[in-house]
Amino acid sequence: MYKVIIIGSGCAGLTAAVYAARADLKPLVIDGHEPGGQLSLTTMVENFPGFPDGILGPELIENIRKQAQRFGAEFRTGVISKVDLSARPFKLTVGNDILECEALIVASGASARTLGLPSERELLGHGLSTCATCDGYFFRDKEIVVVGGGDSAMEEATFLTKFAKHVTIIHRRDEFRASKIMLDRAKSNPKIKFLTPFVVEELNDAAKKNLESIHLRNTTTGEASVLKIDGVFLGIGHDPNTEVLKGQLDMNSEGYLIVKDGSRTNVEGVFAAGDVHDHVYRQAITAAGAGCMAALDAEHFLAEHSL
Ligand code: NAP
Repeated sequence: MYKVIIIGSGCAGLTAAVYAARADLKPLVIDGHEPGGQLSLTTMVENFPGFPDGILGPELIENIRKQAQRFGAEFRTGVISKVDLSARPFKLTVGNDILECEALIVASGASARTLGLPSERELLGHGLSTCATCDGYFFRDKEIVVVGGGDSAMEEATFLTKFAKHVTIIHRRDEFRASKIMLDRAKSNPKIKFLTPFVVEELNDAAKKNLESIHLRNTTTGEASVLKIDGVFLGIGHDPNTEVLKGQLDMNSEGYLIVKDGSRTNVEGVFAAGDVHDHVYRQAITAAGAGCMAALDAEHFLAEHSL
């Protein structure tokens, strides 16, 4: 039986692992379906404190992983298919094994929704991004597109006008899901124009690992067109990775975990950290901070409730 199991190996999970390992709790980290989390899908990270010249996302993740291993954290590849949080020790099914732990830290993150195009994986970090705060700076004086019609798309587009020459919001319908205030703000920005109702059907050029243009289709007329572009930001929402926890942990209507008193969930001994509960800040540094909090909360809990 493990003292602590951490679900997820992004910034939150790995930071929790560093703190839990240094507290001699010998944590086990389950990598999950996106090992390294969102940072492993990005290129340069320039806003993580302590790296004046920036650091590559995968390198930052690898560093935190090594740091956790140095203090005795164990890692296991795999995805959790079932959890039983009805009593301690908690039980987690990974592959054919059932793992037990005294305390659990859920840091399974939220995955940015993508369009489902084969080229997306190749072009992420090479002109395609899911995070304006992270990557906007690299698009100074460029022509960029934001896909989506919700508040995220409006917010990202407005933010990106600080850097870009022009921002085009492409949305698949003429009606917007975004709140009136966010939509009006985007509409009144002279650098933003709207292109509706269009879907993005392809991103070019995956072979060159450089985003140069996108194929569009008008959803009303069916007409196809090509738009030359320097960058595309997907603002079509995120899905928290909480499917396996449904019915056991309290979550909001969108599936984000609800935490109280720091990182505590509704089940005593289960803590949450990072994008799995934070749909507001979603930054590497806030996820790292949340991972630290969850590990400290787990440590305090175990000091009083060790089995
Ligand atoms: P959202 O409200 O779910 O909107 C997602 C948008 O992306 C929708 O317009 C949707 O189109 C579009 N979309 C989804 N899948 C797509 C696909 N495969 N291809 C093309 N378009 C696709 O997500 P969100 O904007 O991230 O907002 C999530 C929540 O956070 C909301 O409650 C929002 O109010 C909140 N939020 C608030 C703020 C703020 O207040 N500052 C900022 C960001 C987010 P359809 O409309 O056609 O479905």
